Amino acid sequence: MGDSRITKVVIVGGGTAGWMAAAALSRSMGHLSIRLVESDEIGTVGVGEATIPAIRLFNALIGADEIEFIRETGATFKLGIQFHDWGRIGDTYMHAFGQIGRSLGMLPFQQYWLRGRNEGVAGPLCDYSLNATAGRQNRFARLPRIPDTSLDGIAHAFHFDAALYAAYLRKLAEGAGVARTEGKIASVRRNGESGHIEAVVLEDGTAIEGELFIDCSGFRALLIEETLETGYEDWTHWLPCDRAIAVPSENAGPARPYTQAIAHQAGWQWRIPLQHRTGNGHVFCSDFLSEDEATEILLANIEGRPLAEPRTLRFRTGMRSRAWNANVVALGLASGFLEPLESTSIHLIQNGIAKLLAHFPGLDFDAANIDAYNRRVRFDYERIRDFVILHYHANQRSDSPFWIRCREMGIPDTLAAKIELFGSHGQIVREGDELFVEIGWFQVLTGQNIVPRGYHPMADALTRDELAGFFDDIETIIARTAAHLPGHEEYIAQHCAAGVPA
Ligand SMILES: Cc1cc2nc3c(=O)[nH]c(=O)nc-3n(C[C@H](O)[C@H](O)[C@H](O)COP(=O)(O)OP(=O)(O)OC[C@H]3O[C@@H](n4cnc5c(N)ncnc54)[C@H](O)[C@@H]3O)c2cc1C
Repeated sequence: MGDSRITKVVIVGGGTAGWMAAAALSRSMGHLSIRLVESDEIGTVGVGEATIPAIRLFNALIGADEIEFIRETGATFKLGIQFHDWGRIGDTYMHAFGQIGRSLGMLPFQQYWLRGRNEGVAGPLCDYSLNATAGRQNRFARLPRIPDTSLDGIAHAFHFDAALYAAYLRKLAEGAGVARTEGKIASVRRNGESGHIEAVVLEDGTAIEGELFIDCSGFRALLIEETLETGYEDWTHWLPCDRAIAVPSENAGPARPYTQAIAHQAGWQWRIPLQHRTGNGHVFCSDFLSEDEATEILLANIEGRPLAEPRTLRFRTGMRSRAWNANVVALGLASGFLEPLESTSIHLIQNGIAKLLAHFPGLDFDAANIDAYNRRVRFDYERIRDFVILHYHANQRSDSPFWIRCREMGIPDTLAAKIELFGSHGQIVREGDELFVEIGWFQVLTGQNIVPRGYHPMADALTRDELAGFFDDIETIIARTAAHLPGHEEYIAQHCAAGVPA
């Protein structure tokens, strides 16, 4: 048996995706020779600033020290996302990370909560979440468990400066032997027989050869689409927003330990607090709002002084028909785009890398292996897509044609089935390793005002007094624990203040 191992990997693109791939592959597969090509002239998108807790697994994989990472990227802690005006104008709810309440016997907490709400003995869902309660009070500490109880502590992610994160990853990757070439790719050389890519050729004629190519070239999708013409599945009929205006601003007041997602007339606005500035953006649908109008709405709703001119980003929601085609694996924006409502893009990069490591090919590029990768990546994309659509579709707003259209549009069968099952007695089934867990779906379904017709009959096993006691105990522990946490900014100042200028 000859040596069929891949040794030469070329990564095209030095945005978040490119450097994440470089850091992870160099750390996990020391025998690879990895070269990353990026063009300073083209630049990066660089607005991926909000994450979910799984990013901590990625940072651990690449050997990043959490405190050092926070300092170098100006990061703040993130406990969840607060949604304003989504179901109806005036509504506010939180999709908090981590545990809410606790299960009892075979039933998850939310089944007791549904009964408790009916009978007037349960408070708002967020009162049973340490993340939500601490977030509301601008408090934070790293606390994996609540001492002397059976309750989990805080589950955290981060907000960070994407450009600084890419620089940090580059430092780690170069330290692990990744070589970098600065230059613009002008053409691509393919094998006449197999169609596989053999080399990318720079404007100055330099050819960079490889065996496996990772396309992290952003929306342009230089290899996977421009060269291989793989195809793109368009999901704009479900997620019609196609533009964003982004602008950073000075911090005005203490950094909140959560992202804000504020619905507007034809889209929504993010507020992402970093240590040295706040990231703001307005995601909107150009069928309903012009760029000038969207900019005006954004600037009227930021809290501090703008630090730069607003810039426009254009996108088309959907995914590449196959994220892996021939000897090219696309990651990041080259593989597809789901808008940042649930901060899932960086996670999808992480996920693509983890699956690439699991399915790492040999020189034969076995078709069964590639198919398995593509199936798994598609599943992840589709389930996250469904979760994001839910926020738009389950609305009761009648103040603008955009929201009416979102409510009246058809939705994927997989999402329809989830909503229908939930509507019966609040049940949510997490299939396979889909990203969002039951309590995540539950918070958004109830936050968007979908009320199940009933609850599981086993929740009747408790008397009304026992049920009230169950809720009181949890609420008391959560309130007491939150009250003892330091302020979010105080915690950062003590443990991980950054030295980055605005
Ligand atoms: C409006 C908006 C908000 C977002 N918010 C979030 C968020 O809050 N959380 C989150 O997780 N994600 C978010 N994302 C997604 C996130 O920004 C991206 O997933 C992430 O930045 C990865 O981008 P990338 O590396 O794939 O592409 P890019 O950043 O576009 O990088 C592309 C790279 O390819 C190189 N390149 C391209 N063509 C060539 C060429 N011909 N020759 C050489 N090099 C080339 C470029 O130089 C660059 O280095 C957001 C995206 C958008 C559009």
